Amino acid sequence: MESSHLQAAIVAMATTVSAHAEELTALDSAIGDGDHGANMKRGFDAVAADIDTIGAKPLAEALKAVGTKLVMTVGGASGPLYGTLFLTLGKELAANPEAYVAAYRKAVDAVAARGKSEINQKTLLDVLYPVADALEAGRSKADVVEVARAAVAGTKDRKAIRGRASFLGDRSIGHVDPGARSSLLLIEAVAGVLP
Ligand code: ADP
Ligand code: MG
Repeated sequence: MESSHLQAAIVAMATTVSAHAEELTALDSAIGDGDHGANMKRGFDAVAADIDTIGAKPLAEALKAVGTKLVMTVGGASGPLYGTLFLTLGKELAANPEAYVAAYRKAVDAVAARGKSEINQKTLLDVLYPVADALEAGRSKADVVEVARAAVAGTKDRKAIRGRASFLGDRSIGHVDPGARSSLLLIEAVAGVLP
C-alpha cells in the first residue's frame, strides 16, 4: 500500500464513522449503552487530526500509530479491540511487509484473544472473520465487501454472547450489532480507496 492510499484510507474511515455516528449510537442504544457512535467518532477524529504525522510513517508504523491512538481515545470495549486490530496489523506487516492477508488474519485472531471471544457471538468478529476467509480465498474486492455486508445483517438474528448486549440475553435478538456495523464501515472505506 502506498502512503497516498494510507492517508486516503484514514480520511475515508474518519469521514464514514463521523457520518454514521448517530446510526452507530442508535444501534448501541438498542442493545448496549448508546455510546458506540461517539466512541468511534472520537477515536477516528483523533487519528484524522494526526494525519500529517501518521501519514508520513511507513505503513507498518502508521498502522501501529493508528492502533495506539484508538486505544487512547475510543474507550469502551471497542477501543482496545479496534486498537488491537491495527496494532497487530502493524506488527505483522513490520515483520512480513507483503503478507497482507496473513497479517489481517493474525490481527483478527488477536482481537478475539483480547475480547476472549469468537465468531457468531454477535460482535465485530462476526464481520472480521468472514472477511479473513474471503481474503484468503482470493475473492474480489467487491465480493469481500458483499461478504462483510451479509455478515452484518447476519448479526441481527443472533443472540449476544459477549459485550454489554449479552446482558440482555434473548432480548438482544432482532438488532444488528453496533460493532459489526462499524467494522463494515471501515472495510467499505478501505475498499473504496484501494485500486
Ligand atoms: P461498550 O460496550 O463498552 O459500550 P462500544 O459501545 O464502543 O463499547 O462497543 C460495543 C461493541 O464492541 C459491540 O457491538 C461488539 O461488537 C464489540 N464487543 C464488545 N465486547 C466484545 C468482545 N468481548 N469481543 C469482541 N467484540 C466485542
Ligand atoms: Mg457502548
